[in-house]
Amino acid sequence: MTENAVDTAPKTPVTLLGLGAMGAALADAWLAAGHPLTVWNRTAARAEPFADRGAAVAGTAAGAVAANRLVVVCLLDDASVEEALAGADLTGRDVVNLVTGTPGQARARAAWAAERGARYLDGGIMAVPPMIGIPAAGPYVFYSGSSELFEEHRATLAVPAGTSWVGEDPGFAALHDVALLSAMYGMFAGVAHAFALARSASVAPGSLAPALTSWLTAMTRSVATTAEQLEAGDYTVGVVSNLAMQTAGVPTFLRTAEEQGVSPELLTPYFGLMERRLGEDGRNGAEDLTGVIDLLRQ
Ligand code: NDP
Repeated sequence: MTENAVDTAPKTPVTLLGLGAMGAALADAWLAAGHPLTVWNRTAARAEPFADRGAAVAGTAAGAVAANRLVVVCLLDDASVEEALAGADLTGRDVVNLVTGTPGQARARAAWAAERGARYLDGGIMAVPPMIGIPAAGPYVFYSGSSELFEEHRATLAVPAGTSWVGEDPGFAALHDVALLSAMYGMFAGVAHAFALARSASVAPGSLAPALTSWLTAMTRSVATTAEQLEAGDYTVGVVSNLAMQTAGVPTFLRTAEEQGVSPELLTPYFGLMERRLGEDGRNGAEDLTGVIDLLRQ
């Protein structure tokens, strides 16, 4: 298409269940891109603004499902999907479930959809609502399930956010989603401890923030090194700061917390794993921190 050409290609009609913060952002994006949209929300008043903008509003979830082949679900949790779709006929529908859940819930939901004659994709949204429909903000969604189904709907699914298909196993989108969010919470824990230390000495949060941000950004290089070590099965490859040295520093962190009157409870679980991996005889001292991952297998 030339630069100023108008895109007149027919747009796939979409049914969207759920107009909470995220569902409303998705609805905005599909409407703005000219997709015929049918919406349903348990609390009907939330659908009214979308009717004003040209969306068809269904009175029931079953009615919304009946309207279009592509049915995107953005409800609160897996239980709300069960409840909302209990009476809907899913035969011949393509269900794309963007509800945050576990890999096991996604696999069970895929089997549930197949039993009802529907094709199924699971998705994990890596964005907050204000990022949706703003490509420069970098929103994307992990998808898993049938690659064929994903390719069929890729262009439509790419309207609100980028797409990243991660495997045929319907649980993989949730697995990737939860893995990334788990890493984020680990980071939040460290950031909380850092600000608690700063506050204990009346250091202004705003004066710590720039250094903290650039330090964490620099440290993300370790992610690629960890992946290389795991793939090589050798945790001594490319080590910059070995486990023996880092474990020797643990008392400094604990003593600093004690001196400053800050609880070490966010740090101690990780330090305990470092010490266990090092071993009493220090046998794994030349490794990176990667061996901690082996200790997490249950
Ligand atoms: P909200 O709490 O804003 O909205 C929840 C939606 O689920 C509403 O439409 C609500 O309907 C509906 N709902 C809740 N329970 C039921 C039920 N039993 N039956 C039918 N409908 C129900 O959540 P979000 O829109 O923010 O989140 C939706 C999904 O997106 C969640 O799985 C969330 O984890 C995920 N997500 C959200 C992100 C965010 O930052 N907001 C980021 C990434 C993923 P009603 O209006 O009637 O209450």
